[in-house]
Amino acid sequence: MKTISILIPAYNEEQVLHTLINRLDAVTSELPHYQFEYLFVNDGSTDNTLFLLKQLVEHRTDVSYVNLSRNFGKEVAMLAGFDHTKGEAVIIIDADLQDPPELIPEMIGYWEQGYDDVFAKRRSRAGESWFKKWSSSRYYKILETLSNIPVQRDTGDFRLLDRRCIDALQLLRESQRYTKGMYSWIGFNKKEILFDRDPRAAGETKWNYGKLFNLAIDGITSSTIAPLRFSSLFGVIISVVAFFFMIFVVIRALLFGDPVPGYPSLMAVILFLGGIQLLSLGIIGEYLGKVFYETKGRPVYFVEEYVSTIKKDDSAE
Ligand code: UDP
Ligand code: MG
Repeated sequence: MKTISILIPAYNEEQVLHTLINRLDAVTSELPHYQFEYLFVNDGSTDNTLFLLKQLVEHRTDVSYVNLSRNFGKEVAMLAGFDHTKGEAVIIIDADLQDPPELIPEMIGYWEQGYDDVFAKRRSRAGESWFKKWSSSRYYKILETLSNIPVQRDTGDFRLLDRRCIDALQLLRESQRYTKGMYSWIGFNKKEILFDRDPRAAGETKWNYGKLFNLAIDGITSSTIAPLRFSSLFGVIISVVAFFFMIFVVIRALLFGDPVPGYPSLMAVILFLGGIQLLSLGIIGEYLGKVFYETKGRPVYFVEEYVSTIKKDDSAE
């Protein structure tokens, strides 16, 4: 029997945990030919999530959890999950039921056909503001143009990954993670399926525009150095323009003399160049910051406790 792990990062999800388990059970009980492992990663929740998980583990043999030592964020929580899953395939799903578990059989079907990364693509985004939809579509377009790898539009982390994708992702151990870029980067056989994303079942989203902005910057700076190129290109263009302007100013002064006007143009040039320089410095700083975090070489996360009751069916190997 093949084991399939369902990886659920959870941060303050006490309100949805039981509904989630029920929905997952309803789906997995229809798939008797697979052994399922529900692996929760408790990402430093401050509510009763951990307590509920402990209760679950006592009563069931197919639930395990990794309790991280603090809140590390979803991206790191997923890496912790990859490190602890046992299945031949791993399905990543949000705890808040925005990703319908009913899609799992279809994912497994494609996996059995030989696909390594079966990802769910959002057809609609119910419960999200027009601004969120618009900004996310703009963003994907920019990211795709800047980095040369294809970006998976309108997808999240809801997907089935074959063991070899998990093995690959485990090798990418940067602490500033942008997992969505990594799925594209590692390659392998991809298959998309369409679904309608539901609004959150309960609780609040932990994303605000500040965090989303940070994720967006991380997405670009961790997959491409195009912004650095742009600042070089901009520098070259401005230098060329400045050179011709200099010749023009000198010749004009020689031919017509110079009664020293030009305060407005001087200010315009100084302010413009100052702005460009600050922007370029900021861009360099973004990358330097990444280098700073990565050269420290710290472990990406710490595990407080790992509890697993799953016994892997060895006869299958
Ligand atoms: N999550 C996490 N750590 C965090 C924030 C979120 O593990 O610091 C989990 C959360 O429990 C949920 C998933 O990541 O299972 C998606 O989070 P959320 O629903 O808040 O994000 P959104 O759906 O709004 O993008
Ligand atoms: Mg959500």
